[in-house]
Amino acid sequence: MSHRIYHNLIGGEWVPAKSGKTILNLNPADQGDVVGEFPSSHAEDVKAAVAAAKEAYATWRLVPAPKRAEILVRAGLLLQQRKEQYARDMTREMGKVLAETRGDVQEAIDEAFYVAGEGRRLFGVTTPSELKDKFAMSVRMPVGVVGLITPWNFPMAIPSWKLFPALVAGNTCIIKPATDTPLSTYNLVQALVDAGLPPGVVNIVSGSGSGAGAALLEHPDVRAISFTGSSEVGSHVGQRGAATFKAVSLEMGGKNAQIVLDDANLDLALDGALWGAFGTTGQRCTATSRILLQKGIAAKFTAEFVKRAKALKVGDGLDESVQVGPQVNAGQIETSKKYVDIASAEGAKLLAGGHALTEGAYSKGTFFEPTVFGGVTAAMRIAREEVFGPVVCLIEFETFEEAIAIANSIDYGLSTALYTRDVNRAFTAMRDLEAGITYINAPTIGAEVHLPFGGVKQTGNGHREGLGAIEFFTTWKAVYVDYSDRLQRAQIDNAE
Ligand code: NAP
Ligand code: MG
Repeated sequence: MSHRIYHNLIGGEWVPAKSGKTILNLNPADQGDVVGEFPSSHAEDVKAAVAAAKEAYATWRLVPAPKRAEILVRAGLLLQQRKEQYARDMTREMGKVLAETRGDVQEAIDEAFYVAGEGRRLFGVTTPSELKDKFAMSVRMPVGVVGLITPWNFPMAIPSWKLFPALVAGNTCIIKPATDTPLSTYNLVQALVDAGLPPGVVNIVSGSGSGAGAALLEHPDVRAISFTGSSEVGSHVGQRGAATFKAVSLEMGGKNAQIVLDDANLDLALDGALWGAFGTTGQRCTATSRILLQKGIAAKFTAEFVKRAKALKVGDGLDESVQVGPQVNAGQIETSKKYVDIASAEGAKLLAGGHALTEGAYSKGTFFEPTVFGGVTAAMRIAREEVFGPVVCLIEFETFEEAIAIANSIDYGLSTALYTRDVNRAFTAMRDLEAGITYINAPTIGAEVHLPFGGVKQTGNGHREGLGAIEFFTTWKAVYVDYSDRLQRAQIDNAE
């Protein structure tokens, strides 16, 4: 056994799960390659982590925010130095190609530097009081102990979107990484520890959603939960949060449309669609999973898109020539297969791919062909439900108004893209597309850390990451200072 055994981080100590149980982290490109062995944590581990976070909160909240921010700057610099190693670890644990895992680590670096700046910008508001000789202001306070639950598709970027703003705002954290990708969270937190983060300020509790995750939801001392994952689990997290009086931020699924109008730069639209649909093997919440084509360009676009999809090189993401890595696990392959069957039964036409790759070197991993369905209508399940794999559908339309209606006809509202040279239509789409993110002449994927990130409808519950995260990780306190030396009653003594 040559793989490394990792522990939970609780109160600054690396400790195994109290049960002693572990979970193997496997490389999806080669299931024989064990990336590491991680704790299988449950309620008792979460209890210890929350106690450590609660103790650390007493002092961390009093560290001046600009000083807390300096730790983020140092962590960002360490991540820069370790970028290549952490990217390789990430490709091994979740499969996406090296160019993308380098991007994932870069996103955490960007987030560190962006949020560090917030350490000197946690602005409050001052306002005149309605009473004489009275001063009124509102200040941001930390929330307290917060729980962070993250998915496997952006194993370092998403934890950084939550940890860094939570920390700069003065909270202490317990993070429960996805079962498939704990190593990238360990690497991220190791950078924070090496940057000087005090013990107990961040605690890692690895384990399953039903074990460690559920315990975090129920713990009465956890004041807020920030969750990214599926809408199904997110709905459950929201309900448990309501039952236990926690603030809950939910970032969930998508079924993102790229609309291509007749006047678009077709080559650009093809490049965008290919990257949006098959980047991260289609396993992005913002992945392009519907391509809406206006009748005039539909045939030409379809022929070229299918040709390009078939030519993509699928394989081990550590091979620099590979364009599409494996899916993260066998369960995701089953989901892709299931939707190929559903789409075929609904009468959609399979134009490319459609199968798991199982021959030769592929037999060691969980690979699926880039898959394209044509002849899809907006009512079909393949056009409405999230697949989270390399499966995209093409839908034809006549008018711009029809395209907007189709794009909006689903339960999700995360990302959208419009390819056109018509500025009037571009602005109309920016206004009318029901989504948290709209791109003009760029693919549905590619968010930057300093803009608001999140969606509407079943994608989110109204919060935003990026520009907006500080809002969630702070709570307002209104402060009144009366220097009149007499009792002044609001709404009463100012009546005259
Ligand atoms: P998931 O199954 O919902 O899991 C997300 C996280 O929740 C994981 O850490 C999971 O643990 C945990 N979990 C599962 N059941 C739980 C429970 N009962 N209580 C507490 N925690 C629980 O999602 P995923 O498969 O990891 O990720 C894919 C989904 O995430 C897609 O739907 C995608 O669209 C969405 N996503 C959204 C965004 C966004 O910002 N909008 C970004 C990325 C991904 P385990 O790993 O142990 O199951
Ligand atoms: Mg893995």
